[in-house]
Parts: sequence; C-alpha cells; structure tokens
Amino acid sequence: MTEPDHREEDPDMPTSSRRSAARAAPPEILPPPADMAPLSWIRWFRAEIDKLSPALGRPKAEQEVYVFGLAELRRRDRRKPSLVTCAGCQEPIVSDADRLVLQGGVAVHASRPSCRSDAAFRRLRADRTQLVGLGIVPPKGSR
Ligand SMILES: [Zn+2]
Repeated sequence: MTEPDHREEDPDMPTSSRRSAARAAPPEILPPPADMAPLSWIRWFRAEIDKLSPALGRPKAEQEVYVFGLAELRRRDRRKPSLVTCAGCQEPIVSDADRLVLQGGVAVHASRPSCRSDAAFRRLRADRTQLVGLGIVPPKGSR
C-alpha cells in the first residue's frame, strides 16, 4: 500500500472528490455469514475475493479472505479451554507452577517450550479442518 498524500487539502474542494483520493485502499472484508452452512460460507468466500481482487490481485485476495475466515472461526469459538490438560502435548498439567495460560485461555506446560508452539499448530490445524468442512480449501501458499 502507498503512503497517503500529506499535501494540504483544498477546503473548497467538494467532499466527494476528496474522498475519491483514498480509493486506492482495498475494500474491507465483510464478516462471514452468522450461520455455519457451507453454501453460505462458499458464497461469502467467493464474493469477498471478487471484491478484493481488483485492488490486491487474486492470490493475495484469496490469502487475505482465507486468513480472515480463520480468525473469525477462532473468534466465534466459545468453548471453555481446559486448564488441566496441556493444549500442546495433551498431557495433564499437574502443578500450578507448570501452567502457562495463553491468549484465548488455553493452558500449556510452562516448563516445555515446545508445548506452546504445538498448541498453536494444533489450533491452526483444527481451524483449517473446520474451514474445509465449510467448503473452503486453503489457497496455494497458505500456512
Ligand atoms: Zn505440554
């Protein structure tokens, strides 16, 4: 994206013309449908890609909408995560001193650094699987 132009604006310029100067920014991605029906999600996915493609190019638009969908699934997940089972290695966390609670409320072993990255990987894989279930396949080159 290019830096906005900081030249002084002409106060006599009509608002509509001033607004058109900011048209270079890509359009905002609308939230996916509230229901979890594959057909609705596929329609949303295609419509948002078509909307963003002119500004970003198709591969980048696919990537952006896909990542947006993943984040939205995570936001909607209201399940209460366990504090006694590690989200990384799936083994029990037996002491409070060894419990590290991450963003989103999941707990991992504080003493095992790999549990943290394993938890993030498991979560991403679960979200991706859910998107595939909604009919959305990861675009080429996505994580
Ligand atoms: Zn662990």
